Amino acid sequence: MKHSMVLVALLAVAAPAHAQLGGILNKAQKIQDAKGKFDDLNVTEEEERTIGEQVSAKIRQRFGVVQDPAIHKYVTLVGTLLAQQSERPNLAWTFIVLDTDGVNAFASPGGIVHITRGALGLITSEAELAGVLAHEVGHVAHKHAVNAIRKGKAVQLGSNETLSSRGPFLDKIANKAYDIVLENKFDRNDEMDSDKVSLALAEKAGYAPGKLADFLTRLDERNKDQPASNGLFASHPDTQARIEAIRKQAGSKNGAVVEARYKANVKYKPTPVTAIATVEDGASGLTGSTKAGDKKADAKKDEEPKKKGFGLGGLKQAVAPEKESAQVSASGGSRGVGPDRAAKGGSNPAPVKVTVSSADVAEFKRGIA
Ligand SMILES: [Zn+2]
Repeated sequence: MKHSMVLVALLAVAAPAHAQLGGILNKAQKIQDAKGKFDDLNVTEEEERTIGEQVSAKIRQRFGVVQDPAIHKYVTLVGTLLAQQSERPNLAWTFIVLDTDGVNAFASPGGIVHITRGALGLITSEAELAGVLAHEVGHVAHKHAVNAIRKGKAVQLGSNETLSSRGPFLDKIANKAYDIVLENKFDRNDEMDSDKVSLALAEKAGYAPGKLADFLTRLDERNKDQPASNGLFASHPDTQARIEAIRKQAGSKNGAVVEARYKANVKYKPTPVTAIATVEDGASGLTGSTKAGDKKADAKKDEEPKKKGFGLGGLKQAVAPEKESAQVSASGGSRGVGPDRAAKGGSNPAPVKVTVSSADVAEFKRGIA
């Protein structure tokens, strides 16, 4: 039943209220009537991925993607190994390296994890990378973004709205999710929860657990003179408490650090926080879709996005940020976001395709010692 409802929602978005869909829509209406009020945030796995794809497209547009299959393969191997141990091993886990000096990591709903070139430069070992990626896997596995939206009641389907409005409804959620993910607006409990997942997954994979704390300590030290909350720390006022909790949970457990393989694969050097180039134009540069001075993209943004379905072809249009999202980002800019969040990004948002087989992952795991 759930499945047919999703199908109808997607069809309705692809071709609004077309005559030949009448029968299906009537059936959906019956399902809805039978169920009573449509559950406003009962997001299916498929819808979650749709939301996540939209969020990821905006993040890639904002920061660009490193066009290097080798680094993507390495990060994907580490990430896949961890994700396979998670509570949601069967999601289409995807790992993306963003082309910016800023230090950040973003978990998009449905299993799309982003980490920046700047973060890879600051990380010193595979166990630390595992700690960061596994933390993001935790956000996805426990659906923190979607749950945060539900808790905030920021996006709701009114009682009179029908299935045909579910497409725009998902767009609203995607915009809200982008805001939450980009600004790291997870609450403290979600961060602590993801830290726990990080420890558990790193340990299962054979890494020294708690290396995430080493990375956070280095990042905290780097950010000590920053006036504004910055990147990964935007929602982490109690960084020290968090680091202590991680260390306490890790205890004296041993595991592999894997420094040599990390250094063989990752050649990026950290950029001092004061030397990170930032996007000047807060109003457009900090939104997901445009870089400062990109008039064409700005013009496109003002068009009302036409819903063309959620196939990859339609996605490009569906991700054009709505005014609401632009305002949020603009006010974010004026209240001062840190240099990691405001960091300039690369110009190419195209994903880099890498294929990792289970044999590749098994082989890779043997190198953790
Ligand atoms: Zn987090």
